[in-house]
Amino acid sequence: MSVFCQIDDKHVPLYRVVWISVVPHFCGSEECQREGLYEVQLEQGETLWATADEQARTLHAIEAWHGEEEDDLLEEGD
Ligand SMILES: [Zn+2]
Repeated sequence: MSVFCQIDDKHVPLYRVVWISVVPHFCGSEECQREGLYEVQLEQGETLWATADEQARTLHAIEAWHGEEEDDLLEEGD
């Protein structure tokens, strides 16, 4: 599987994601460009803004990625 997920207009390596917001951004500002987007924190303090679809895809990709690593560990134990 790909080690990248697409967020905004970028391919982001999954291992660079530190955390992903659970709820969409809301600050009440009429001029806010981030309303309804999910904050994604990357290493080195970078922030990206994901749509709900991108947020869900990224979470699934990270889960699948970690799942593969756990399978590898189990195979080594045999
Ligand atoms: Zn805002």
